[in-house]
Amino acid sequence: MALLQISEPGQNALPHAKQYTLGIDLGTTNTLVATVRSAQPQILKTEDESLIPSVVTYSTSNPQVVVGTKALGAAVKADSLTIRSVKRFMGRSAAEIKFSHPYPLVDRGDSMPAFNTPIGLKSPVEVSADILTSTMLRAEAADLGDLAGAVVTVPAYFDESQREATRKACELAGIPLLKLLNEPTAAALAYGKSNPELQKDGHVLVFDLGGGTFDVSILKIQDQLYEVLATGGHTSVGGDDADRLIAKWLRDQASTGEIDTQAQHELEAYAREIKQQLSNNAKVEVNFQGFSGVLTQDQLSDMIAPITDLCLKLTERALRDAGLTKDQLGSIILVGGSTRMPAVQQAVQAFFDKEPMSSINPDEVVALGAALHANDLTRESANRSNLIDVTPLSLGLETMGGLVERIISRNTPIPISKKQTFTTYQDGQTGLIVHVVQGEREQVTDCRSLAKFTLSGIPPMKAGVARIEVNFSIDTNGLLQVSATEVNSGVQASINVKPTQGLSEEDQQRLLTEGMQHAEQDKNTRQYLEDRLEAERELEALTPALSEFGHLISDDQAEVIQHAMQVLELAINQTKADDKANQDQLEQIRSAHASLKKLSDPFAAAIMNQAVSSELSGKTPDQI
Ligand code: ADP
Ligand code: MG
Repeated sequence: MALLQISEPGQNALPHAKQYTLGIDLGTTNTLVATVRSAQPQILKTEDESLIPSVVTYSTSNPQVVVGTKALGAAVKADSLTIRSVKRFMGRSAAEIKFSHPYPLVDRGDSMPAFNTPIGLKSPVEVSADILTSTMLRAEAADLGDLAGAVVTVPAYFDESQREATRKACELAGIPLLKLLNEPTAAALAYGKSNPELQKDGHVLVFDLGGGTFDVSILKIQDQLYEVLATGGHTSVGGDDADRLIAKWLRDQASTGEIDTQAQHELEAYAREIKQQLSNNAKVEVNFQGFSGVLTQDQLSDMIAPITDLCLKLTERALRDAGLTKDQLGSIILVGGSTRMPAVQQAVQAFFDKEPMSSINPDEVVALGAALHANDLTRESANRSNLIDVTPLSLGLETMGGLVERIISRNTPIPISKKQTFTTYQDGQTGLIVHVVQGEREQVTDCRSLAKFTLSGIPPMKAGVARIEVNFSIDTNGLLQVSATEVNSGVQASINVKPTQGLSEEDQQRLLTEGMQHAEQDKNTRQYLEDRLEAERELEALTPALSEFGHLISDDQAEVIQHAMQVLELAINQTKADDKANQDQLEQIRSAHASLKKLSDPFAAAIMNQAVSSELSGKTPDQI
């Protein structure tokens, strides 16, 4: 028997084994790691350095693997290869790597091509794992206790293969991953903790300009849930472009001719320094190859105007995608080192006519939010640890009219097995598709599709005669098996799915809250669809019956029935366009159906009588 947890909820049950959690922003340019101490999120630093440049050098001389600032300054040498911006390669196949890059790649026929380094092939996952390992070293140096787990952030637009690659990198680095979190969500969480304005329901725009990428995301916050409504941006615009523009300006001023890669690297590093100084100074003295002069903030603003213009255009597009106007946004959050440039802040402010939030260090905010979330997650799980496992969402299958028949309700303890019998809808139907769905809504289109399989080989029978038993069973590991058997003939088919596979905590929350929000409306829709379906079946049955048994009733009677059928058909067709009906239309279908039934019931009785009498004719009482 499980013992009750006797420690305070949210606190560790074992006071001596101190546990901590991490938030990791695995960035294209820089990686940061944060933890929560005394309820405050803080970046883990070494020697005043908070950022770990996301750069790895592999070389044949020791140490073979160098990560971060030391790799950043690595010279271009034959016995070494320095990899930057590995994030762009994560989860990408050779065909998908269309951007230009200086690396020798080897396609191994795997999902991702590998970098050909002097010490062998390194996949993007392995390179990322090396960066992640350096975050672990920071955490270990801080002597925080035992690592309970980490939340690692990814761009909101990352697809499943990019996310999977990130998960693998964590695994390789030995990081117990609690969850992948979207970067803009992490930023909003970080602000939300200290800002009641942000906890209110509404829309938030996250403007993230990093080193080589621009990401804009629009989040909807409701009941403390964060949903990404739209994302946009550009995969090759960022602070690096500003560095190149300054470098070009310097070369123009000094009338420098062609320079080699190494010299260009050094010049760009110098340009970056100038750029960063200009974030805090109106002007900076510059010296390059005999040229001495100053560069002002205003000059830089003009220089990078193409960058800010592009970002704002993309922002406008994302807003359009989300179906929102600027004034519907509650807050605008600035994220990414490049938003420290006054020119960027001013451009954003002018665009929205509203001051963006930037009080939290923009290159730290994502890691800080991730750390807060990691902390929350483990506190919750400490409370949850003694609970029985239950199904997080309802499971069911698609029935006629796109409706969901719920088989296992959410919060049902597992393991569980449930059976339900269905029948066929059409005469002679020899197969059917079993569509397994998950969610709390009444219509299939509003739920998550889990799996589909076909039960075929049913012997042709009259509609309604086949008996199809569908069995849902979930084992202790949460694996769902759905099987369908036609009982008369014994034909059977089944499928296995893991209902939680690919289901993020956010999806889960969304599916849940949507179910609650739409409960009333869904009930009506279901009622409507069921009523409509029943009316349609009546019409479908009556048409052949009239041609076969029309002689049993008078022509007048037949005409009245046909007229009533037309009225009902019309009422149905009026609602077909969008599958949603208002109360009036629903009433129309119901009353038209009721009127038709009044007329068709005596007709059905006449058909029955005649069937019975023909059955009886010529039979002796014994035979009956
Ligand atoms: P990423 O998310 O791509 O890893 P970051 O958010 O760390 O990137 O941003 C890195 C970029 O921010 C670099 O181009 C860097 O030069 C720029 N940056 C950092 N600090 C400043 C600053 N004070 N002023 C202007 N740009 C800065
Ligand atoms: Mg970033």
